Amino acid sequence: MAAIQLESLTKIYPDGTKAVSDLDLEVGAGEFVVFVGPSGCGKTTALRMIAGLESITSGAVKIDGQVVNDLPPKERDIAMVFQNYALYPHMTAYRNMGFALKMRGLPKDEIDRRVRDAARILGLTDSLQKKPRTLSGGQRQRVAMGRAIVRSPQAFLMDEPLSNLDAKLRVEMRAEIARIQRDLAVTTVYVTHDQTEAMTMGDRVAVMRGGFLQQIDAPQVLYERPRNLFVAEFIGSPAMNLVEADLVRTDGTHWVRFGDHGLRLADATVARHPGLERFEGRPVVLGIRPEDLEDASLVSGGSDGERLSVTCDIREDMGSEVYVHFNLEARPVTTKEVLEAHVVDAPEDEETRLAAEQARGSGARFVARLDRTTRAREREPLELAVDVGRLHLFDPETGLGIGR
Ligand code: ATP
Repeated sequence: MAAIQLESLTKIYPDGTKAVSDLDLEVGAGEFVVFVGPSGCGKTTALRMIAGLESITSGAVKIDGQVVNDLPPKERDIAMVFQNYALYPHMTAYRNMGFALKMRGLPKDEIDRRVRDAARILGLTDSLQKKPRTLSGGQRQRVAMGRAIVRSPQAFLMDEPLSNLDAKLRVEMRAEIARIQRDLAVTTVYVTHDQTEAMTMGDRVAVMRGGFLQQIDAPQVLYERPRNLFVAEFIGSPAMNLVEADLVRTDGTHWVRFGDHGLRLADATVARHPGLERFEGRPVVLGIRPEDLEDASLVSGGSDGERLSVTCDIREDMGSEVYVHFNLEARPVTTKEVLEAHVVDAPEDEETRLAAEQARGSGARFVARLDRTTRAREREPLELAVDVGRLHLFDPETGLGIGR
């Protein structure tokens, strides 16, 4: 296994499209890094440059410290797994997995050992004599993984390998791939547009937008300390609630005010946002994760916490929890980066509703993730407790997290 370094990696296609701009990052030896971002953000192009399937406009790809810009894919010693893994239909799983090794002229017993080892890791031992059409979708995907594993490459590159599978299988396979990657400790770069996949699989996640790297961090860091509004809105489902607010300071206490509402900032929030004083008396963007809101009647500790009085519009029972949608009479955040980040997960009707509401100027849409015992009812008032230690604050002009 080897480290992969990308240095100012840039791709401009012949038609002038700048797909990747000055990408700088390092994937450590044995590390699992996921590239994630909305369609067209350049993640596939970046992966294809690492693989050698796309020429590099400027910058460098290094594998194990060596610049490989001009090496053909075959000489880079990396294995790719694609969305369309196209197994040979007339060959058994065994032959599909061993084929590339046979082409390379490896001795039969060496091929046999490698194929059987990979099959054991993948749980395919009993299916080796089957042809692809008699394998399930998940098994076919495993055979595709097997073809990569038997080569014992320096690195795996995977481009949306699970997107042809149904939802349940995708969840199973993503755990499986993560486990195999850990066991084999092979450096892996994985591309997906699905933030849940990215967050559950990667040691680190690189969020991209419009060809630019926005942030690369461990999943929990991305979630708790998003660098900007795009990352804040893209990572997490349901997405972070955002609203334009004013930061005020009275008697040494910081408050955010939006519409008729006001929340006192906890010391922890102030501490997490160094330089906050510069925003006193000025607008900020306030972010609240849906799980940092709770039905106040279920929160112990009396009435001293911060509250929001709202009206429940829609109640969605998810089984383990309840989502409550409501509207705040305050200015929504409709910058391009926020809208772009939102499009990915939002089902069409939700998007349409959002757009229609924002056009009517009816305020900011919020979602709260409440305990399943909540008695919240549609069209009735609801008192929400806010975990003010976890609020997020952004500079509305730059979109950057304050203090980042
Ligand atoms: P998706 O998830 O939809 O595959 P992506 O993030 O992987 O998207 P890329 O496929 O890398 O994005 O594309 C990045 C940008 O480059 C897009 O604007 C795309 O239209 C453009 N692009 C990709 N391939 C070419 C090409 N061969 N010629 C011109 N532009 C291209």
